[in-house]
Amino acid sequence: MTAVSDVHVREVGPRDGLQAEEPIEVAARVELIERLVDAGVRDVEAVSFVSPRAVPSMAGAADVMAAVRRRPGVVYTALVPNLKGAELALEAGMDALSVTVSASPTYNEKNVHMSVDESVAAVGEICGLVAVTVPVDAVVSCSFGSPYEGEIAPGAVHDLGRRLLDTGATSLTYADTTGMATPRRIDDLLDHTGLAVGLHLHETRGTALVNAYAALERGVRRFDTSVGGLGGSPFVAGAAGNLATEDLVHLLDDVGFTTGIDLDRLLAVSARVAELVGHPVPSRVAAAGPRTRLAPV
Ligand code: ZN
Repeated sequence: MTAVSDVHVREVGPRDGLQAEEPIEVAARVELIERLVDAGVRDVEAVSFVSPRAVPSMAGAADVMAAVRRRPGVVYTALVPNLKGAELALEAGMDALSVTVSASPTYNEKNVHMSVDESVAAVGEICGLVAVTVPVDAVVSCSFGSPYEGEIAPGAVHDLGRRLLDTGATSLTYADTTGMATPRRIDDLLDHTGLAVGLHLHETRGTALVNAYAALERGVRRFDTSVGGLGGSPFVAGAAGNLATEDLVHLLDDVGFTTGIDLDRLLAVSARVAELVGHPVPSRVAAAGPRTRLAPV
C-alpha cells in the first residue's frame, strides 16, 4: 500500500541531471530510473525526446523506455520540445509530458531558437495532440531572473503561466534556471501565482534548499529535484545543479513531511550516480551522510 505523500517530488535526474553529462549507456539510464523507483520515487522525468544531435546524452529515449520495467502507480514523464517529440513520447507510452518555455525572451531564443510566442504556440500544438490522454506540465524557465534581461517581473512570469494554461497545459512549474531566486522572490512570485504550482530550484548560488523551505512554509507541495544534485544549463554561467533530491528529502524527513522516498536507498542511488557520471555529485547530504548517521567509535 502506498501512503499519500505530503510533498510531491518529481525526480528529474535521469533527464535534467544526465543531460548536462557525457552520454552514458541506455542500460545504465534504465538502471538509474528503476533504482530511483525502488527508493520510492513516484514521478520521474525519465527521458526527453529531443534531437540526439542537439542533446547527445538524451539519445535513445525510446530504447530507455522500452527497457524500463514499469511500476504501477509511478508516473514516467518525458520532456518534449515540439509536436514530433510529443508523438514519439506517446508511442513510447509516457504517462506525462513536460514542456518548457522561458520567461526570458533571449534565453528562450538561445535555448530553443524560438520566440516566446512561438514556444507558447508549440505548447498549444503539443497539448492539442496529447492533453486528452496525458497531462502536460509547463515549466517556465528563468522565472526568477535571466542572465540576459536581469530581473523579470513576477507579474510577467505569472502572465506567461496563465497563457500556457490557456493553451492547454494542465499544470505549471516555475524554474529558477539561473539560481537567482531568494525566499523574498519566491514569496513575490507565489503572491501572483498562488500555491498550486511546482518549483524547480537550482543551487547556483546556494539558495535552492532555503527557497524550497520558504515555499514549503507558504504551502507549496510540489518540487522538482535531481538525485545527487546533478544538472545545470549550458547557457548559464556557473550554473550549478538542481536541488538534490536527497538534500530535500533529508530536510523534509526531519521537519515532518513525507515524500514516500526512503533516504538510505536514495543515498545508495546517489552513490551509484556518481560512479555512472564519473565524478562526485554536488549533494551535501551525499557527502556528509544523513544527520542520523553516527560516526564509528
Ligand atoms: Zn533543472
